[in-house]
Amino acid sequence: MAVKGLLKGLAGGRGDDSEALRREVLDDFEQAGIGWIWASDAEGRLIYLSPKALECLGSDAANLLGQPLVSIFEIDRDNPDEKSDRPLNFQLSTRNKLSDLVVKFTGKTDKPRWWSLSGHPKVDADGTFRGYRGSAKDITLAFQRKLEDSRMAEYDSLTGLANRHRMDRRLDSTLAAYKSAKRACALMMLDLDKFKYVNDTMGHPAGDDLLRQVGDRLRAVIGNRGEIGRLGGDEFQVILPDIDDRGELGELADKIIQMLSSPYQVEGKRAIIGASVGISIAPYDGLERDELTRSADLALYAAKNGGRGMYRFYSAELKDVEQERQIMLDDMREAMEKDQLQLHYQPVVRTSDNVIVGFEALMRWEHPDKGNIPPMHFIPVAEDSDMINRLGEWAIRRACEDAMQWPENVRVAVNVSAKQFANKGFVAVVTQVLGETGIDPDRLELELTETVFVGDLETTEKTFAALKHLGVRLALDDFGTGYSSLSYLRSAPFDKLKVDKSFVDSCTQKDQNSAKIISAIIGLSNALGMDVTVEGVEAFDQFDLVCKKGAKYIQGWIYSKARPQAEILEEIASGGYQIKPSGPDTYRPERRSVFRRIGVIHEDHRYEAVMRDLCKTGSRIEGLVGVPVGTGLVLDLGGGQLVVCEVRRSEDATIGVEFETPLISDGSGGLCTRHRVSPYALAAAGMPLTSLPPGNYPNAMLGGGDSPKSQPQFMQVTVSRH
Ligand code: C2E
Ligand code: MG
Ligand code: MG
Repeated sequence: MAVKGLLKGLAGGRGDDSEALRREVLDDFEQAGIGWIWASDAEGRLIYLSPKALECLGSDAANLLGQPLVSIFEIDRDNPDEKSDRPLNFQLSTRNKLSDLVVKFTGKTDKPRWWSLSGHPKVDADGTFRGYRGSAKDITLAFQRKLEDSRMAEYDSLTGLANRHRMDRRLDSTLAAYKSAKRACALMMLDLDKFKYVNDTMGHPAGDDLLRQVGDRLRAVIGNRGEIGRLGGDEFQVILPDIDDRGELGELADKIIQMLSSPYQVEGKRAIIGASVGISIAPYDGLERDELTRSADLALYAAKNGGRGMYRFYSAELKDVEQERQIMLDDMREAMEKDQLQLHYQPVVRTSDNVIVGFEALMRWEHPDKGNIPPMHFIPVAEDSDMINRLGEWAIRRACEDAMQWPENVRVAVNVSAKQFANKGFVAVVTQVLGETGIDPDRLELELTETVFVGDLETTEKTFAALKHLGVRLALDDFGTGYSSLSYLRSAPFDKLKVDKSFVDSCTQKDQNSAKIISAIIGLSNALGMDVTVEGVEAFDQFDLVCKKGAKYIQGWIYSKARPQAEILEEIASGGYQIKPSGPDTYRPERRSVFRRIGVIHEDHRYEAVMRDLCKTGSRIEGLVGVPVGTGLVLDLGGGQLVVCEVRRSEDATIGVEFETPLISDGSGGLCTRHRVSPYALAAAGMPLTSLPPGNYPNAMLGGGDSPKSQPQFMQVTVSRH
């Protein structure tokens, strides 16, 4: 039998007593299962394996003899102790000594099998390599235990997602590999809004259950596009290799926010939380883990400050966000003390007879140095501190006082932040103001947004009940934009829905569902016995459409913008309860007025100019004279954002340009380019490889230092803020 013959060879062929003893010991050794013996030939084929070992590998093992070792075993890459990942093939061909090498049996067995393999190359006296001789041992049980332990060290036991340790390692290794392969990798940092609140009010087991569900939802959205980790608490992270398109990332972040913001069923109760996302992309925002993570963290921080439920891309300006926020808070405190805040009132008009039925109070802040600061900027900052409670209380009181000077049948609506609503003293404040001003509670309408449902629904419902008991009216503002769930309407006692301006903006454009949504919302509220106000109607095409869809109340510029109390009183005094609609025939999306210094690149010249307004598809730029219509330009918007465009209009020092590729939303009301100049491209052009520096496109990229430049073709004039 082949094995016997081989053993003979192993034993060296001596036929004496000590040889018989050796064999016996060897046999016992094999039989007892202490270890097995194996041998390979010079070509790396297995030529001997202890019979017990063959048995252990099961039926498939019958014809292992004669097979190359490397096709029978592989080095296990999951082995947490295995530092070198050199394949078995390498070890054998370099004739390395094998000591306790963990290998996995590649063939089919009932269960996976791991062996510890040792051996040494056998070389004859004349130097001929004869193959390996060695021992082996089955270590399956111990190895599986070790794997399990290491899994626990790498994964979060609650959600099964990777833990911080693993994510750090993954990010390190991905970034290192991608840097040399010139590939991009995005990083998302996620933070749950209001999770702590659920945890505190519903208990830790409920919090754990919620986190598990968050993990499942994240897995469903991300799929195999990236690796998800839970870093601890309510902090999650996603590594997304090979994505640097900010349009795509923005859509993904939006989807994550939507998924995580829909209601959860936790221990038989409903709970709602929100999510904020910060995004950074290597190599643009960081080359190494530390820098990339810091960038994503800053972006997350900005997203949370910007009003939560939002995503945000990293940009160099974010470094100052915290500082700006502090200044804004200090200024706001001063504004409160110095009475710099005002309420303006925008009429809500009944479409059937153009009669004003109420006004919405909107806060205005005229900063002594910075001019008018819109509520969209300062309210979120106030919401992130206790300032919102003071601000909100002031607004309710002032609005009720002012309304007492209007006719008795005209209502006043006041916006209430979710944080203010959740504040324990809120109902008391409303009660007190009602008492102090003597206003009929039915004339006060509190405008809430869907964010009030975030958190613990029981407390929310109690506050609702208390307010209804007081007799005030409740309106659901910006309906359809937030955490959107029709189920709120079932449980909450709203008297009114306000259709958000964003639906009105797009309702007259083709291929938009907005018109259908508007008519559905109107139908729904009729069915539920609620009023509806359509917000943000500016032009007659919108007006006609929403009226046709059944809108009975409209609040929009087509009737009036918000105006100070003094003007409202004057009009009331002159008997004006009615306003005729007036406005443009068709709606033109508003261009954002901006003042932003940008670079304009034409041939090998770079001009400085000022961008005055901006929309997705184009911009108006001041500062260049004599640019012919049809000229192709590249705009440098800073931070590596280059936009190819063509001049469509040109007059004096102002040009209007159309972008070759539309800009995309930056998640927080601004616009940005999908792609940026790649640091890899800059490095290829001789610059050091770093993340993108703030500011403009490096000048050195424009034709380079010494080569003669062409004549500049346009005249550059200085533009100042006015
Ligand atoms: P909102 O409550 O949805 O108010 C409606 C916003 O739409 C107002 O913006 C109003 O000026 C604007 N608007 C109304 N009709 C038109 C139109 O036809 N065209 C255009 N382009 N805009 C129109 P505003 O005053 O800038 O306020 C923005 C947001 O700030 C408000 O949205 C509200 O959420 C918040 N806010 C304002 N005042 C207060 C306040 O006193 N307390 C709280 N918590 N939030 C406030
Ligand atoms: Mg409102
Ligand atoms: Mg609104």
